Amino acid sequence: MLSDQELLRYSRQILLAQVDIDGQLRLKRSKALVVGLGGLGSPVALYLAAAGVGELHLADFDTVDLTNLQRQVIHDSDSVGMSKVDSACKRLEAINPEVKLVAHREALDEDSLAAAVGAVDVVLDCSDNFSTREAVNAACVAAGKPLVSGAAIRLEGQLSVFDPRRDYSPCYHCLYGHGSEAELTCSEAGVLGPLVGLVGSLQALEAMKLLAGFGDPLVGRLLLIDALGTRMRELRVKRDPACAVCGSRHG
Ligand SMILES: [Zn+2]
Repeated sequence: MLSDQELLRYSRQILLAQVDIDGQLRLKRSKALVVGLGGLGSPVALYLAAAGVGELHLADFDTVDLTNLQRQVIHDSDSVGMSKVDSACKRLEAINPEVKLVAHREALDEDSLAAAVGAVDVVLDCSDNFSTREAVNAACVAAGKPLVSGAAIRLEGQLSVFDPRRDYSPCYHCLYGHGSEAELTCSEAGVLGPLVGLVGSLQALEAMKLLAGFGDPLVGRLLLIDALGTRMRELRVKRDPACAVCGSRHG
């Protein structure tokens, strides 16, 4: 059940017919894993905590650096040098003490990543490198857990949802596994704060839809965001039957 305090706290989203009390209870019973507490993970964690997702599992082995603060809005100037997970927990506890926080401050290896993914209902990939994205995807496919994947670099963003519970859904590897493009990082290429904020906010929205069970999730679709021209377009993306990660999923 929801307390009077919770009914008040979440009243503006409970007012929506698509959420209602049932949706709020589903959020309360839900667990989400946020991989990476940088530019994408900041709005993801802030919005999911504020919305009342019952448990947030936070994974990042890095510490807060001064160069992070231009876009990683969950951290503040006093947090420089602190573990990103600890810095995020401090902020999230202040926003919503109802949410249970589970911290992963260590780098996750294959086993600990599988355990972390297995413990939640949805995974949000907010990491900044290809090898982490591939590892998170493989763990999600193996565990049958939906993955909300976002990325932003320079003035371009991308977003998609991979849901192994749906036959038609590709996985991250179906789309990006060919690795033809050289990997770029924000530290080399640059990125704008509001753009990662936009992509991360959309990731949080997709996760809420999956957890509370409303709307049409971005499965089988890739959203491309062009910040320079303020344009969004969408590509249909298909599952690769020969994919090395999900190809044998349906026998
Ligand atoms: Zn695949």
